[in-house]
Amino acid sequence: MTLLTFRFAPSPNGELHLGHAYSALLNQRLAKRSRGRLLLRIEDIDTVRCTPQFEAAMLADLKWLGFEWEKPVRRQSEHFGEYASMLDRLIREDLVYPAFMSRGEIRAYIAESERRGRDWPRDPDGVPLYPPVDKALPVHERKRRIAEKATFAWRLDVGAAVARLGKELSWAEFTDETLSDTSSVEARPLDWGDVIVARRDIPTSYHLAVVVDDALQGVSHVVRGQDLFSATGVQRMLQELLGLPQPAYFHHRLILGPDGRKLSKSFGDTGLGALRATGASPNDVRRMVGL
Ligand code: GLU
Repeated sequence: MTLLTFRFAPSPNGELHLGHAYSALLNQRLAKRSRGRLLLRIEDIDTVRCTPQFEAAMLADLKWLGFEWEKPVRRQSEHFGEYASMLDRLIREDLVYPAFMSRGEIRAYIAESERRGRDWPRDPDGVPLYPPVDKALPVHERKRRIAEKATFAWRLDVGAAVARLGKELSWAEFTDETLSDTSSVEARPLDWGDVIVARRDIPTSYHLAVVVDDALQGVSHVVRGQDLFSATGVQRMLQELLGLPQPAYFHHRLILGPDGRKLSKSFGDTGLGALRATGASPNDVRRMVGL
């Protein structure tokens, strides 16, 4: 029988807070209950915001919390070659295109379109979709700009991808923490528009690295926060395009701050380091997150 495999996948771009503690401990509880594997993956593709100091603090916090992961950890920044070869496939199959517009250009383009009375579509996070301008650039123009070292990102041509697959996609979502029942959720990749799959200097994005790693690490159960629920639609599409297996998902409740909002890494007093400094124990943390 293959073992169930869980993972906790933080990004070392700030301190861990109660929300991370809940996610890590829930993964641990589910792995223990099913006698499965528990992996830790360091999602550090953003080599500017992620630092060795944050990573060291993160590992120390997790150890203190009693989170026990299999060694070695997978550090995404050590695997750019693997992501690059997946990206090459998408490039060869014409499913991505180089997108050159700067943030300012995107804003101006959308403002102009809205002035003419058209509401610009937004993704589930409220971010305006990328304008269709670069998708229409002739190949020689793309090549010229790349040769001139223009800044660009590789974006998924999601319309082409949906047409290529020619079928509706869905995923299996667990409905509660006991992982006993699943329901099928329709993936809606078009809602996100042409998402970034890689950058000029970094051959991946969050979405690409996550699906490649979940597959390479044999992750069977992705247990992560509700804030990533609809992003799963994009990830299901990438899995399908790249022929990768699909895990089952459980998007758990979020731990909210005193103001009722999602915690962020700059939210000092719910940081695990700050809690430890005021004398809280790992059991206090468990209680605070309801585990
Ligand atoms: N690295 C992501 C984060 O810290 C989580 C990715 C995932 O669990 O799929 O938000």
